Amino acid sequence: MDNETTKNFIENIIDEDNEKNTYGKRVHTRFPPEPNGYLHLGHAKSICLNFGIAKKYGGLTNLRFDDTNPSKENTEYVESIKRDVKWLGFDWDDRMFYASDYFDKLYEYAKKLIRLGKAYVDDLSGDEIREYRGTFNTPGKESPYRNRSVEENLQLFEEMKDGKYADGEKVLRAKIDMASPNLNMRDPVIYRIVHASHHRTGDKWCIYPMYDFAHPVSDAIERITHSICTLEFEAHRPLYNWVLEDWDDPEGQKPRQIEFARLNVTNMITSKRKLRLLVEKGIVSGWDDPRMPTISGIRRRGYTPESIRDFCERIGVAKADSLVDISLLEYCIREDLKLKAPRLMTVIDPIKVVLTNYPDGKTETMTADNNQENEAMGTREMTFSKNLYIERNDFMEEPVKKFFRLAPGKEVRLKYAYIIKCEEVIKDEDGNIVELHCTYDPESKSGSGANANRKVKGTLQWVNAEDAVDVETRVYDYLLKDDGSEEEGESKDFLDQINPHSLDVYHSKAEKALATYHVGDKFQFLRQGYFVIDPDTTADHFVVNRIVGLRDTWAKMQKKKNQ
Ligand code: ATP
Ligand code: MG
Repeated sequence: MDNETTKNFIENIIDEDNEKNTYGKRVHTRFPPEPNGYLHLGHAKSICLNFGIAKKYGGLTNLRFDDTNPSKENTEYVESIKRDVKWLGFDWDDRMFYASDYFDKLYEYAKKLIRLGKAYVDDLSGDEIREYRGTFNTPGKESPYRNRSVEENLQLFEEMKDGKYADGEKVLRAKIDMASPNLNMRDPVIYRIVHASHHRTGDKWCIYPMYDFAHPVSDAIERITHSICTLEFEAHRPLYNWVLEDWDDPEGQKPRQIEFARLNVTNMITSKRKLRLLVEKGIVSGWDDPRMPTISGIRRRGYTPESIRDFCERIGVAKADSLVDISLLEYCIREDLKLKAPRLMTVIDPIKVVLTNYPDGKTETMTADNNQENEAMGTREMTFSKNLYIERNDFMEEPVKKFFRLAPGKEVRLKYAYIIKCEEVIKDEDGNIVELHCTYDPESKSGSGANANRKVKGTLQWVNAEDAVDVETRVYDYLLKDDGSEEEGESKDFLDQINPHSLDVYHSKAEKALATYHVGDKFQFLRQGYFVIDPDTTADHFVVNRIVGLRDTWAKMQKKKNQ
């Protein structure tokens, strides 16, 4: 690494460690998801950070499932997490582990702490433990069971393991300091009894290690060097270090916990618990609903791994919490697709146009650029005929000021084709507009007509009605009305913030070229935005999702800031 200015604070720490030779110049990180839900954009940040930093330093990254809570975890989540990490472009090679791989070692290490007089079995109930813990202002009270002998503790702990006690009847606690100003150090519980089947170890265990014990020990077993986690674990760091005081590493190297600020994004939920609620309540169609901030939802929405990695790069790594504007994410996908997505014409909410002076049965082909900003993408042929569709909102019967699109008596150019003029508005009995009768200027054909360069103010996209492809278009809005992001305090119910109009469905018409593409292919639909073909598509029913519109609010915001 040579560019000092681009280093973040974690890289500075690693540089220091390398200088001091703390880890023999090794850099070994891990991404440790709990398989109790699908990964979301916040996790993407953590993935990019852990894998990205190791890669920069020629190090390694483990994928480790933190599966110490059997009642909430399952293999569906494990599989989805693997898929998502791969999709983001990262590879753990043969380094996929589970905290449950270490249950035997964790159990042995807990016994070591007991033997050292650093852990004890407590009979207090959960409520009592909480009460005895004290508060920020008052010291805790020692449990009457705190001074049991090592022998008694060893025996009781073994009995806990053997299933002699019910859930909650006993726990194993670290013996640290009930008067510590750090509440995490007031004899935290490190093992609890849970009579539940585990997705990997089945019924072998009925005691499970707590996160604050399992995590440092798992890191140490895997010989992780830099254990990167989010800020809420800062106050747990002394406990992390305490747990590892008696760990024997072959080279005396103990992992170091480093905290960074979690990602919060406006209009976006980044809490697995809340996301699960949306799925369970049927507010969304599933974990991969394109409105969901899950990686699977974002993928289905049409975001690319490149755009997510770019986003994570741009937001950087900080020590202080902040809120990122969602328009930056949208900027990143536009930037990624701008030059690589083919551009097609579609009409999302169609209105029929009949060119009354165009010969019946005649078809012409028009040459259209596949991407005006990237000539290398070539051109395609579009068919043109007497019967066309244009966008309903590109017509106004009584145009407002500065409306330069189609209106009675007014002209517009159809992109890559002719100038047309609206002569007559056809309505049904209820007064709804059903058709526009227009004439075209035969000399105005783009590129070749005598009037090809005749200027009119508006240029519209269009589709030939005679070979158009029917498309269901799903246009999404933010799932949360409120852009203040989630309130961790839970003072207001996030369900009240759900936007009831986050999905609009249209019966659209696309140019026939769309039919040559497949699920997952992405486009710019001219003047409309970026779209992707959704997996709900069948042989005779196309479904597309709008990824994002064309208007770039992020760039505008930056411009304003810099003025
Ligand atoms: P949630 O609160 O949504 O359940 P979590 O932190 O409990 O998330 P884990 O599966 O434990 O979920 O997270 C795996 C890793 O991802 C952890 O290291 C965690 O710190 C990190 N992570 C989770 N959410 C975010 C976020 N919003 N921004 C950055 N990193 C995150
Ligand atoms: Mg967690």
